[in-house]
Amino acid sequence: MIKVDEKSGIPLFGLDFIGILDRGTNLLEIKPITICNLRCKYCFVNAHFGDYKDLPSKEKQSKVNNFIVDVDYILKWLKYALDNKKCDDIEVHIAPYGEFFLYPRYLELIKGIRKFSQVKIISIQTNGTLLTETVVKDLERAGVSRLNISLNALNEDRAQKLSGIPNYNVKKLLAIFDTILKSQIDLLIAPIWFFKYNDEDIIEIIKLAKKYEEKGFTSPYPFLGIQNYLVYKSGRKFWKVEPRQFIHFYQKLSEMEKTYNTKLKLGPHDFGIHTTVPITPPVEVGAKISVTIICKGRSNVEYIGVLDEKWAVKVLSKVSLVPQQRVTVLVIKQKLKENLITANISSSF
Ligand code: SF4
Repeated sequence: MIKVDEKSGIPLFGLDFIGILDRGTNLLEIKPITICNLRCKYCFVNAHFGDYKDLPSKEKQSKVNNFIVDVDYILKWLKYALDNKKCDDIEVHIAPYGEFFLYPRYLELIKGIRKFSQVKIISIQTNGTLLTETVVKDLERAGVSRLNISLNALNEDRAQKLSGIPNYNVKKLLAIFDTILKSQIDLLIAPIWFFKYNDEDIIEIIKLAKKYEEKGFTSPYPFLGIQNYLVYKSGRKFWKVEPRQFIHFYQKLSEMEKTYNTKLKLGPHDFGIHTTVPITPPVEVGAKISVTIICKGRSNVEYIGVLDEKWAVKVLSKVSLVPQQRVTVLVIKQKLKENLITANISSSF
């Protein structure tokens, strides 16, 4: 596992898989770790536990390098991000390329984030499998506002198949939902809809969320955020299911909204997300820039480069690069409202 800290020299702006991601809104995403205890068949970030011994050889080929970011280093960069944002209703959303509760110093990180007066909400994306009553109590005391938990099926067999883990335990997760509902922490169940595979489960999960409402549990947010199944180039594909276009997905959600008399189509306003000053990289697409290579990136054709000691750059290269090498690269991806930079080593240089 590659450690990212002050000494590493890797800035925490610029990369999608670690650091702090800003999309020009009052929501800042924090990505502190890249390993996961599940092996979901559909994982859009191709996360593993980091131990490739037991994997089938086909999966070994898609091996990724894993990273962990030091807690003090994250807090230092978060302060820098907050100073840039000039906004006093920030939501910090901890959403790693993996499972947050494998991050050894997770409580320290949450408590550190809580100290910033601009941060009003701390939400965490998790698969929920490592939560216990004690952990939920600790999170409550540390000031976590919301847990977004992925649960794709109530049927044990389908849930296990989707998670890639034979002992995935739906009942245990449902018991944790009850604990969260009784705490100060809000619960958002976030299933992915795999059309024609987990249709029944989606209906059961809608009924479950309605049951929570009927029992009198309240939340400033919806209890349910159903997501469309998408396939990403660098992720894993669940071969049993074809992804559907968003138009089809929203049509189906509209039908379900009528049938079950509940709101299912959600947007940023449902979570209080609004635009703010973006943290914008100092380069544009098409620019040729000089970067210093620090180490390999997540995949074997990716490297982490550094621009002016302030920005990390994801460098795509089919030729091998070594640490401290200076290279000129062509910026191929940089959105105006995203603090990410991707560049390519071009043979024409
Ligand atoms: S829980 Fe999330 S990060 Fe982990 S394998 Fe599943 S989809 Fe990937």
